[in-house]
Amino acid sequence: SHRPRLSSTQLATLRGALRGPVLLPGEPGYDTVRTIWNAMIDRHPAVIVQAQCAEDVMAAVRFARQQDLAVAVRGGGHNVAGHAVCEGGLMLDLSTLAAVQVDPRRRIARVAPGALLADLDRETQAYGLVTPGGFISSTGVAGLTLGGGFGYLSRRFGLTVDNLRSVELVSAEAERLRAATDEHAELFWGLRGGGGNFGVATAFEFALHDQPPEVLAGPVVHDAADAPAVLRAVAEVMREAPDEVACLPVLRHAPPKPFIPEAFHGEMILLLAMIHSGDPAHSEAALAPLRRIGRPIADVVARRPYVDFQSMFDATANAGARNYWKGHYLDQLTGEAVEVLCDRARRMPGKESSIGMLSLGGEIARHPAASTPYPHRQAAWVLNIQARWRAPEEDARQIAWARETFTAMAPFTTGGVYVNFISGDEGEARVRAAYGEDVHARLVALKKRWDPDNLFHLNQNIVPTP
Ligand code: FAD
Repeated sequence: SHRPRLSSTQLATLRGALRGPVLLPGEPGYDTVRTIWNAMIDRHPAVIVQAQCAEDVMAAVRFARQQDLAVAVRGGGHNVAGHAVCEGGLMLDLSTLAAVQVDPRRRIARVAPGALLADLDRETQAYGLVTPGGFISSTGVAGLTLGGGFGYLSRRFGLTVDNLRSVELVSAEAERLRAATDEHAELFWGLRGGGGNFGVATAFEFALHDQPPEVLAGPVVHDAADAPAVLRAVAEVMREAPDEVACLPVLRHAPPKPFIPEAFHGEMILLLAMIHSGDPAHSEAALAPLRRIGRPIADVVARRPYVDFQSMFDATANAGARNYWKGHYLDQLTGEAVEVLCDRARRMPGKESSIGMLSLGGEIARHPAASTPYPHRQAAWVLNIQARWRAPEEDARQIAWARETFTAMAPFTTGGVYVNFISGDEGEARVRAAYGEDVHARLVALKKRWDPDNLFHLNQNIVPTP
């Protein structure tokens, strides 16, 4: 915002180099594009480039370098930290580049950087194929993948990056290249968790697996009063569960949904989102141990399309609310950890906030630790403390709850954090914690090779220190 405005000559040069539009403050579309998922973020780029091809990305990167503009890259716009948009600087919007091309014979999906999980799931499932992604379908494939990516199928098929076969990238030098195990292998390693630090991804190729379109899945709901005992039992079941079973327990206030008894609407509940994604012949038996726990107030587990389950909770995580997150990894949901979690849930100030934890393990844990910059493969659970509210006057109170919950859970963590769950203000120490010292040092070396001037610093930044 301290920079002089771009001159009309400079803008004409930029426009002339692009197929896609340039959006300036006050122009139609400018506010729509700069508005991202987290309503806490309200920034005004000097210029938005809406890329329509990889060459537009090259031109935008070149222009940003020449004009000394910071570059923010927007994929799905979901990241809670809000680095997809910048104050001043150049926002590179990739959201209209959303194609997914499935090659069912090679079992590969080629995905453009603005595609959402909904696009990827819909189009791979058209062939009975799948690659593992997250559980809210409006999340961007790009940001999720560059941070590692996990979801309901990760115990079977690993992290999203374990299924990544190649990335096409525009580098800080505005050069286009491909990274894979046989080409720029170290860069390819870095892209599988190192975020947007090394360039702008313009295409991803994923390996696909067979996935029957119908799964046994849904939520089972418990009264929060029973939550500690239920969570302990869930943890025990998940320790022995087959890879096809995943469970996402969430402590939150009950939404006024017809499947939840009315007396519980607005009350604290423990919702267990669960899925069996394997052979339907085994699904009932596989989910029975989870469904048998305690005395649920609702159980709407049913056979349903995988894509329906993938979007089942979208409404509770839609865009436009203020959000602040803190993350941990947990080894087990046992003993005091569960008591503390449930106590913190009772003190939750927001009706839309939640504490969620996803079962990991399985195939995630079978890959070597150094195979990608995601060193937390042995963690059994990932914890996400999500404060979510509407009124700006509430900011301090809501953020304080998330931070205090984080601190209260600190004694039980295995250390570290998922890089995609870090909020915008957590600082470089938290980025280091996301990777651990060894992986971080390797990422720094890679950053020095590919972006020594830190052109791409609007991200969970790997600082190219000498
Ligand atoms: P954006 O905000 O557009 O991008 C995030 C950052 O990634 C950008 O700031 C930029 O640094 C970088 N980036 C994006 N695109 C590119 C590109 N093409 N090239 C270079 N850099 C790029 N994560 C999971 O793993 N599993 C989940 O189940 C899951 N659930 C979620 C549910 C919700 C409701 C939300 C909000 C997030 C969830 N996440 C989950 C976290 C999610 O993976 C991150 O928020 C991710 O960054 C979102 O990607 P995006 O493209 O939508 O975000």
